Amino acid sequence: MNYRISTRAASLTPSLTLAIDSKAKQMKAEGLDVVGFGAQIIVSCGGKHSCYNVILATCEEGDEVLIPSPYWLSYPEMVKLAGATPVILPTTDQTDFKVTSNQLRGAITPRTRLFILNSPNNPTGSLYKREEIKALGDACVDRGVLIMSDEIYEKLVYDGAEHISVAGFSPAHQEQTIIVHGFAKAYAMTGWRLGYLAAPEPIAKAIDAIQSHSTSNPTSFAQKGAVAALQGSQSHLQSWLAEYAKRRLYAHNRLNSIPGISCVNAKGAFYLFPNISKLGLNSTDFCAQLLEREKVAAVPGIAFGADEYFRLSYATSMANIEKGLDRLENFARSLAK
Ligand code: PLP
Repeated sequence: MNYRISTRAASLTPSLTLAIDSKAKQMKAEGLDVVGFGAQIIVSCGGKHSCYNVILATCEEGDEVLIPSPYWLSYPEMVKLAGATPVILPTTDQTDFKVTSNQLRGAITPRTRLFILNSPNNPTGSLYKREEIKALGDACVDRGVLIMSDEIYEKLVYDGAEHISVAGFSPAHQEQTIIVHGFAKAYAMTGWRLGYLAAPEPIAKAIDAIQSHSTSNPTSFAQKGAVAALQGSQSHLQSWLAEYAKRRLYAHNRLNSIPGISCVNAKGAFYLFPNISKLGLNSTDFCAQLLEREKVAAVPGIAFGADEYFRLSYATSMANIEKGLDRLENFARSLAK
């Protein structure tokens, strides 16, 4: 497959690492016992770093990037930094905040370069089902659009649901997909700054060129920590998920019992995204007044492209959640009067 690399990435002098990588491959092909530490998977300083590198390596001025909203707030800004145009696909009038394949197909133009898929999603907690992901992947394969699949919340799914990667359907889907991942969510390594991505080789090489000239390598001891995390028992996940599920259930029920607030339940990640359209304030004013009057910090939905919502994270103690929701209820009741 022919991958178009951004002019920016293509103009870089290939890094020495890649020269060594190809020499090593040649030596291996000649039957020599070469120990390879070359590019394939690219480790970065966090999921955010990986996302940015993907966008820089594939997008430039004139390109459009399709982003379902509500979206993780950095995607559109990264697209703008790359000189490309974010094209937002709203999903707030659909159940579970999920973009449909028809909506996606209708939005693809000759300028569409990349589709950003984030399941489980920040900020809504939505999780796409197998057939939904397949249909989105098919649309991109049919129309030659690359997919950046941000799977950073892969391990945080509830109610026995499964996380599906679009790259897994067929070699054609894999060729079209760049998977972004990181250690911040499932291993609580947020401050360690470690992420990674898997991309088709020409794109991986372009990303490697960008990354090798912008940061040398992720911190060595964080990498050792990540290896230990991956090789260690994963039993923490079960207890985390049980605890998150408890908090999610409590917060979801409480939110829906507050007059003027309604909330779709999350299927993954650790966020809820309640609707406040009946309370008569936009999300910025709602969150500013909530902080001012009740000392509760929540993020306005406008930051994620949805002004009738706010984001609440339940990755905090049950005691905090109870206290915060008591205060939120006071605030909402005062607005509803
Ligand atoms: N992608 C999504 C959807 C996120 O929510 C986040 C962080 O909140 C990231 C990527 C970035 O993660 P990291 O801390 O590894 O940079």
